[in-house]
Amino acid sequence: MSKRVLIINTGGTLASVARERGLTPGLTTESMLQELHIVAGEAQLTTQEFSSLDSANIFPEDWARLAQAISGQRRLFDGIVVIHGTDTLAYTSSMLSFMLRNIDIPVVITGSQLSISNPVADAMENLRCAIYMAQSGYPGVFVAFNRKVMLGCRASKVRSLSFDAFDSINCENVAKISSIGMKINERIIPKKNGIFSLQDRYCPDVAVLKLFPGIHREVLRMYAEAGYRAFYIEAFGLGGMPFLRHDFISEIRSMTEQGITFLVGTQCRYEGSSLEIYETGRRALEAGALQAYDMTAEAAVTKLMWVLGQTEDPGEIREYFRLSLCGEVSIP
Ligand code: ASP
Repeated sequence: MSKRVLIINTGGTLASVARERGLTPGLTTESMLQELHIVAGEAQLTTQEFSSLDSANIFPEDWARLAQAISGQRRLFDGIVVIHGTDTLAYTSSMLSFMLRNIDIPVVITGSQLSISNPVADAMENLRCAIYMAQSGYPGVFVAFNRKVMLGCRASKVRSLSFDAFDSINCENVAKISSIGMKINERIIPKKNGIFSLQDRYCPDVAVLKLFPGIHREVLRMYAEAGYRAFYIEAFGLGGMPFLRHDFISEIRSMTEQGITFLVGTQCRYEGSSLEIYETGRRALEAGALQAYDMTAEAAVTKLMWVLGQTEDPGEIREYFRLSLCGEVSIP
């Protein structure tokens, strides 16, 4: 029997048209129907308009609405495909991985580097891959792009122009399409560890700080005074930060005591952080910082937002960061 696939359109380049002010989302699934049917194969398609946005204009409240829409429709379909702009796609796929933890169908997010109306676009290939994965029966949140499928919480946009725009960071691909078809690496797909229930609460008061030599420690206080409750710090190398002239560590200690959460990762895209190794990292741990290990920046930020939406208790927050919730981190 043919599988039922829902396509939710949020916009992005895939659904864009050239206008006077530049490329802007404007195509509806209705106007893309012919192309969608070409790539759908046997699948029975249903389409839903969600928004018509460049993904720079997607906000946390859209993630929650999207998670609600997917949760509401999940019993009616074998799989769901989300069309999304590539620029913030990895943030959306990461947050959906947390909000839709233990979902029982595949949710596959895709986009493209050229509009579907362009005859040489990557759009059809990406949609074909996404629709195929949506029929696979493997539950979870995934990203399909350039003939590969990645865990939604491990994908990151690493190239701004190439068709191979996304990499799966510190984690193998879930699947690849080659001349032998789609080969799924089951080992990479996290096992469900509970019954699905929509968990769409989040706290947006998270700041990201990339360290550079000479950065003033006062910026931490400035953010806290503006109401931010948590920081994701992209520290140096394995997670080091200064404790001499611009002493970040003592600032982290006193702000942690006041209930602010610090998650520390690395500026290096690959291989993650390990704060125990150098004094510059170990002191941060002793001051109360949590480790991001090998998480992507997108997963780190959205996990912070999501965890702070579940609890305000520092002990419980710490506990969430000792766990991989949906495959987002390898805890050594
Ligand atoms: N600016 C576009 C967006 O993120 C880029 C794309 O879709 O590739 O919506």
